[in-house]
Amino acid sequence: MKLVFASNNQNKIREIQSILNGSIQLLSLEDIGCHEDIPETADTIEGNAILKANYVTENYGYDCFADDTGLEVEALKGEPGVYSARYAGEQKNADDNMNKLLEALKDEENRSAQFKTVIALNLEGKQHLFTGLAKGKITFNKTGNHGFGYDPVFQPENYKETFAELSAEIKNKISHRGKATEQLIDFLNTRK
Ligand code: IMP
Repeated sequence: MKLVFASNNQNKIREIQSILNGSIQLLSLEDIGCHEDIPETADTIEGNAILKANYVTENYGYDCFADDTGLEVEALKGEPGVYSARYAGEQKNADDNMNKLLEALKDEENRSAQFKTVIALNLEGKQHLFTGLAKGKITFNKTGNHGFGYDPVFQPENYKETFAELSAEIKNKISHRGKATEQLIDFLNTRK
């Protein structure tokens, strides 16, 4: 069975392919000749994952899954959420985004936050959603240089380090994306 992952991130694709059972062949957007920017105009994380998966299924006729992620900060009523990538502007710069976040939380004691990843899967005419959460808090300073995005200011629950101080191996085990992907893979590998 061929299944499209609405992504061109070869690392993510290779990683998921290696844990899927042999009957599923993952294709990237490039593999199916989809070179246009897929609209991500929904106002929720779920909505964007669904938009992307539906775009591929409707325009290219493939079963497909797509993911979308955001950082939800409790004291900011869930912001930046679906706007995490462009929180500080269309330049989508991680440093600018973190600076804006630290500034917004300057005098705030409630630093609780969570990363949320939603994967939308279109398979044989049905849609399935998988959600992965990583709970934690926003630190007062940036620390660490692994990872990307908000990793230097996010300290996951039960850890003293930020995501940016943890190895990729540990982060993948406890991360929002790791958990959502695990659910997707369990579903695909155990399906009759
Ligand atoms: P995307 O939906 O995976 O493109 O994620 C949207 C935005 O959320 C990214 O541009 C990052 O700013 C942020 N983000 C997503 N996942 C992570 C993560 O694992 N660590 C830090 N930031 C992340």
